[in-house]
Amino acid sequence: MSLIVQKYGGTSVGSVERIEAVAEKVAACRGRGDDIVVVVSAMSGETNRLLGLADGITETPTPREIDVLVSTGEQVTIALLSMALNKIGCEARSYTGAQVRILTDDSHTKARIEEIDVERMQADLKLGRVLVVAGFQGVDSKGNITTLGRGGSDTSAVALAAALKADECQIYTDVDGVYTTDPRVVEGARRLEKITFEEMLEMSSQGSKVLQIRAVEFAGKYKVPLRVLSSFKDGPGTLITLEDDDSMEKPIISGIAFNRDEAKLTIQGIPDTPGVASRILAPIGEANVEVDVIIQNVSEDGTTSLTFTVHRNDLNRARGLLEGIALQLKARSVVTDDQIAKVSLVGVGMRSHAGVASRMFTALAEHNINIQMITTSEIKIAVVIDEKYLELAVRALHSAFELESEAK
Ligand code: ADP
Ligand code: ASP
Ligand code: MG
Repeated sequence: MSLIVQKYGGTSVGSVERIEAVAEKVAACRGRGDDIVVVVSAMSGETNRLLGLADGITETPTPREIDVLVSTGEQVTIALLSMALNKIGCEARSYTGAQVRILTDDSHTKARIEEIDVERMQADLKLGRVLVVAGFQGVDSKGNITTLGRGGSDTSAVALAAALKADECQIYTDVDGVYTTDPRVVEGARRLEKITFEEMLEMSSQGSKVLQIRAVEFAGKYKVPLRVLSSFKDGPGTLITLEDDDSMEKPIISGIAFNRDEAKLTIQGIPDTPGVASRILAPIGEANVEVDVIIQNVSEDGTTSLTFTVHRNDLNRARGLLEGIALQLKARSVVTDDQIAKVSLVGVGMRSHAGVASRMFTALAEHNINIQMITTSEIKIAVVIDEKYLELAVRALHSAFELESEAK
């Protein structure tokens, strides 16, 4: 008998019919003798709907109240799924994050899980009950409701699996695994049998929202066996593997991730002297604005320019700060662009293969796509391009690296 944590995302519980279908699936697993803890998201569209309601009242709701509001989405689903399970004779109990006591820090809307009480859950499991836990939410040490950031139910599931020492954490979603790239963008994208944690971490951090990055981090840290599966059709899904098998030929590129969430800022005509980059970026960091890609160029007149990207939501704040810094440094100008996108190639095989970057740049050039910025890590090459070419770029790279075919 195994203990399995199953997480069902928004589309998987998007209607009463879908919730009933999930109940059947859960009951069938329970019927085979496994202990089951189910984590659910809000019904699809619900979190956005709730945020829209808040937006109708104020542009600046306090993060504490946002959390109280959006956590209701998941509370609806746990109750409905538990009712559906009980109706078909599978005894189930619903729990909010606070009831389970998923203890988090107090960073509302992006809280981190600190501790989970397992006693109550274990007592229920002993009685043969299925536990249905609200994803995405927790409680801080003062009893305030917190949430874990968009897509956070994945993290709730993995954290519960780690705390309960589950045999597997299964993430059920609307695709049947992790693909070489988003199958909504490239029709010929291929499902991966497995992918290493390291690669999945890069894929998630570069924009593949199939798994929230924190969930992958948690699973790697606590060695939780993690699988992505479809709630709509049976299949093996994709296993996120702890160790990569050395006997196996590693693909050079495992996947392509992309995101449209960033914006670019350039400060031009600044003195090319030591300390300039820090004078520009330190105030940005102090304002809690995360900087992603950075490039600095020296121009012939001895001045330099610095370009960096931030999350689009932070663009206005970053621009305000940068304009102040530009005045102090007597910079020539500040230019911003929020029509950019980042495309990343990810693969552990990159470590042992040269020429990946040039192959990538050639493929983009053949499609007349201009590269604005480049950044690399050991297992990733990412480029910033004009947003309007994003899908073209992803398709071009998918085909240039022959990701459709099995042979590499
Ligand atoms: P859920 O609501 O179940 O959490 P999400 O919408 O968060 O589902 O994540 C699933 C979606 O992730 C898929 O519908 C797909 O469009 C997208 N996606 C992006 N990159 C990938 C990828 N490499 N493999 C599979 N799905 C991906
Ligand atoms: N409902 C939350 C969201 O839409 C959490 C999740 O679905 O994982 O972001
Ligand atoms: Mg998700």
